[in-house]
Amino acid sequence: MSYEKAPKEPRKRARIIRWAVLAVVLVAITVIGYLHQTAVTGKPAGVDALCPFGGLETAFSLITSGYLLKRVALSGVILLVAVVAVAIVFRRSFCGQICPLGFIQEMFGGLGRRVFRRRLELPAWLDRPARYLKYVVLVVFIYLTWTAADLVIRPYDPWVAYMHLTSAEVFAEFGIGLGVLAAAVVGSFVYDRFFCKYLCPMGATLGLLSKFSIFKVRRTESTCIDCKACDAACPVNLKVSEVETVESPECINCNECVNACPVKDTLAVSTSKGKRLSALATTGAVVAIFAIVVGAATVTGDFQWKAASLADEIKSGQGLGEGTGASDAPMTGDFDVSLIKGRTTLAEVSEATGIPASLFEQVLGVPTSEQGTPMKDIKDAYGFSPEDVRTIVELYRTDPAAAEAYVPLGEAGE
Ligand code: SF4
Ligand code: SF4
Repeated sequence: MSYEKAPKEPRKRARIIRWAVLAVVLVAITVIGYLHQTAVTGKPAGVDALCPFGGLETAFSLITSGYLLKRVALSGVILLVAVVAVAIVFRRSFCGQICPLGFIQEMFGGLGRRVFRRRLELPAWLDRPARYLKYVVLVVFIYLTWTAADLVIRPYDPWVAYMHLTSAEVFAEFGIGLGVLAAAVVGSFVYDRFFCKYLCPMGATLGLLSKFSIFKVRRTESTCIDCKACDAACPVNLKVSEVETVESPECINCNECVNACPVKDTLAVSTSKGKRLSALATTGAVVAIFAIVVGAATVTGDFQWKAASLADEIKSGQGLGEGTGASDAPMTGDFDVSLIKGRTTLAEVSEATGIPASLFEQVLGVPTSEQGTPMKDIKDAYGFSPEDVRTIVELYRTDPAAAEAYVPLGEAGE
């Protein structure tokens, strides 16, 4: 069969650039996660400040009360804005062109393809209903999060577990999330993009939005030679060769099908009016949207790149009881002790609550010179736990003498 061939070089370049963007995001976020766990000073922000799903989780609280949920920073909301803006124009491009967990799955999917010599699929009777699971995950966790006003999904979130891989807390606090991460990796080795297809609530949200997207993958039937190279290339197993427009919410806009199509101008990213964009230009536009939104928020100081101190969290309203306002004054009375975590330093607790450093030295035995170190790194050496510190703060509110007489329980108090 004779047909006009699509040039190979631009297709290869588009694939390399997409993988390069995904790799850069994965490496950058991995370094940020590592430094967040290990750096003593100048810590970068943690996963909760850098995840667009956090923006969705906090949306209800933000709209109804004007407060962000504990741990979520405004940058999570800003990333959600970028992700939604991208979805309105380019479908689930966040999943296919930016998401680091998606890239990890795709890498293992690629390995699996080499081993099995083809892309495996779950049988249709199981695959179809299983794809709805992610919508159930979305509805359940958003409902629980909004009613409990807490990040209920956190212990089960594979990405939170990934970002805590170098933390001592990973098994204790994120064991289930670690299991889900392992399932995503092993699952993707066998069935590419396993977590994206069956479990990811962010993917479910963007899939719903993508129905309204401007650009979609479209096939020109008159020139299609029915080679099915597009079907074989699709990581989410869509039958591109059987439709004129890929309308499925499963499409992650990776454009692997477009780059696999050997026939010139047969498969393309285009609008319903026929305005086409190359796969490479699509990746460029997606990166540009993210860069503009995040860059603008960085310039205005609304994007949180550095980890918030305890005092920052209190001032932003996250640690306050209902009806209280933010202020610079010590606020032991209003202070929500659940903000005290293993990553918190005793110096931050002193600053936020007004409790003198000498009291922590006296009760916990921690010299002031070590009170600037995260508690998780010194608690075993001094035999106390963050729960002891929370109790001391509670006691100090009503009876400072009782706080001074407190005997730490250590791990037993957790
Ligand atoms: S249909 Fe094409 S763009 Fe969509 S997920 Fe499959 S390969 Fe990627
Ligand atoms: S890759 Fe898909 S769209 Fe392109 S010619 Fe083959 S079957 Fe048709």
